[in-house]
Order: sequence, then structure tokens, then C-alpha cells
Amino acid sequence: MSNILVFVEQFSGKVSRASLECVGAARAAGGNVCAVLAGAGADGAAADLGRFGAAKAIVLGGGEASSDALAADVAAIAKEEGAKAFLCAATSAGRDLAPRVAALLDSTLFSDCTALSAQGDAFTAVRPWLAGKAIATLTSSAPVFCATTRPNVFAASESSGTCAVVARAASAGGKAKVTGIEAKSGGKLDVKEAPVVVSGGRGMKGPEHFALIEELAAAFGNAATGASRAVVDAGWRPHSEQVGQTGKTVAPQLYVAVGISGAIQHLAGMRTSKVIVAINKDAEAPIFKVADYGIVGDAFEVVPALAKAVRELKAKG
Ligand SMILES: Cc1cc2nc3c(=O)[nH]c(=O)nc-3n(C[C@H](O)[C@H](O)[C@H](O)COP(=O)(O)OP(=O)(O)OC[C@H]3O[C@@H](n4cnc5c(N)ncnc54)[C@H](O)[C@@H]3O)c2cc1C
Repeated sequence: MSNILVFVEQFSGKVSRASLECVGAARAAGGNVCAVLAGAGADGAAADLGRFGAAKAIVLGGGEASSDALAADVAAIAKEEGAKAFLCAATSAGRDLAPRVAALLDSTLFSDCTALSAQGDAFTAVRPWLAGKAIATLTSSAPVFCATTRPNVFAASESSGTCAVVARAASAGGKAKVTGIEAKSGGKLDVKEAPVVVSGGRGMKGPEHFALIEELAAAFGNAATGASRAVVDAGWRPHSEQVGQTGKTVAPQLYVAVGISGAIQHLAGMRTSKVIVAINKDAEAPIFKVADYGIVGDAFEVVPALAKAVRELKAKG
């Protein structure tokens, strides 16, 4: 069984779902998982990782929240642990850390992978290429296989195992330092992590009508609101909600695209969603080519009716 090192993100003691999925991906590939955690609250978060299949967790204490210092520590741990693979989730922090670790290990990084497997110590990753037009299957001859996993694609499965927690001092120094982290306002779910995403496009006609998108998201209860670039560029919605090539890549259980035409750059960010529902008044809109369910109709009629139906269904339990 190969040792797989997984960098696990946590914030104030709470492990991110994307990281638990990454641990799940490592386990599903047959790995013996060693997790690395850093930052305030990492101790508490590490203790619980056995429940998700990590055999060992190394907690980096102290340090100065510097990506390059953290990368140096993670790369050193990968070598010490004899890791055959290094994984982390393709989140903002993961995208910052993973290339640095891969470079220090003299390896190639396969980013945003949607499948992972191993035969002995030989790993194979699958990832979308060319805005999702092609699917690449990749292997590496580097001594440590390095990859990031796309959030919401892999399962975070629970186990009955326990995890040995080891403390280790983080390296000081580093060129880039994180001096502060601002929590998201309003406790809203992030599009990258939410199991359901309801996105609106230019078909919503104006920022005031996004109340309908929010109403549908609220009806689902576990949903985040997303947006096309056209509406973000118009200042209707914040950039943090933009889905697509120059926004965020999402893969929720359910993606609802409302008044979005389905330009290739938007599809690049959502086409690996499990179930896609498109609502558009133009039956020829390209979004219907990737949709599992399509509703040809006016968003201003369909969305309130859908929100009502979801609320009624949920009320019935
Ligand atoms: C380099 C580059 C990067 C890009 N990156 C991104 C990106 O990350 N994300 C992204 O989204 N785009 C991106 N774009 C822009 C992309 O090409 C499209 O312009 C954009 O996605 C269109 O947004 P939209 O679908 O909201 O608007 P439109 O293309 O204008 O579509 C609006 C849709 O609403 C429908 N509609 C209108 N009224 C109603 C109604 N009442 N009810 C229902 N439907 C209605 C219309 O039929 C139409 O299909 C990028 C472009 C470039 C060049």
C-alpha cells in the first residue's frame, strides 16, 4: 500500500469538505493516508481525521502562514514519509500550495483532477482539458505523483479508524506571508463547495431580479448562488460567484443555470456537475446540449414556480 500525503485545509478547527474528499480520493486509490495540517485549530481538526481514513496526521505548529515555507515543510514531510503521491484539494489555498510542493519534489503537477487510481505505486489521474472539451488520462514517472482534486467530485467516506497525531514545528521565514484572512460575509456557501448551485445570467435582465435566484437557492437550503461572467462584468453580482474559465470551477450534485446561454467559457466551469438543469427561453441555447434536464421558458415564470415546488416537496419531507 503506497503512502499518500494529503494536505488538509482547516479553518478554526473545521476541516474543509474539499479536503475530506481529497482524503477520500487517496483512500479510494488504495493509499495509506498521512495528512498534514497547519494553522490555528489544526490540533483539534487532526484528531478527527481518523474517522475519514487518515492513518496519521502531522500538525505543523507555529510558523507564519507563508505558502513557500509551508510548501518546503510539506515537501520535506513527503520525503520523510516515503510518500509516493502528494494530493490536496484544488481550492485557492491548494492551487497556491501544490505547484510549490511539486516543484520542490521535482515532480509534475496534475491539477483539478476528476478521477484518480493506482496500481501499486503507479498513479493515474484524469482531468478535463481545453475547457472540458477533452478528457486527459495522465501518468507520471516522477518519484512523487502530485495532483490536486476537484471539489465535489470525490466522496468523503467515513471509516472507523483512528489517526495518530504528530506535532512538528513549522519552518519560519518564507517570502510570501498571509497577513490576514477575512471570513465571508453573511455565512453564504461558496459556489465551489456547495452541493447545489443556482446560477443566473444575462437573461435575468438586471441585478434586482437575482432575488429570484436567491429564492430558489434558499428553497434548496444547501445551495450557493453563482453567475455568468456577463453579469459579473456588468457589476450585477460579485466576482466570487463567477463560474467558468476565468471564474470558479464547480462540480455540485445539482447545477441550475438560469438565463445563461452556455458559452464554452461558462461550460468550462460547470460541465462536470452531476446533474445540470437549464432554464432558458431560447430552445436553441447551447446550455441545453450539456443539460440533463431543460426547461424552455421564461425565467420570471419558471423560477418562482420551481422554488415553490421545491419548498412544498421539502415541507412534505
Ligand atoms: C477569455 C474569456 C473568458 C471568459 N470567461 C468566462 C467565465 O469564466 N464565465 C462565464 O460565464 N463567461 C465567460 N466568458 C464570457 C462568455 O463568452 C459569455 O459571454 C458569457 O458566459 C455569457 O453570459 P450569459 O450566458 O449570462 O449571457 P448571454 O450569452 O447574453 O445569454 C443570456 C441567455 O439568457 C436567455 N434569456 C434571456 N431572457 C430570458 C428569460 N426571460 N428567461 C430565460 N432565459 C432568458 C437568452 O436566451 C440567452 O441564452 C469569457 C469570455 C472570454 C472571451
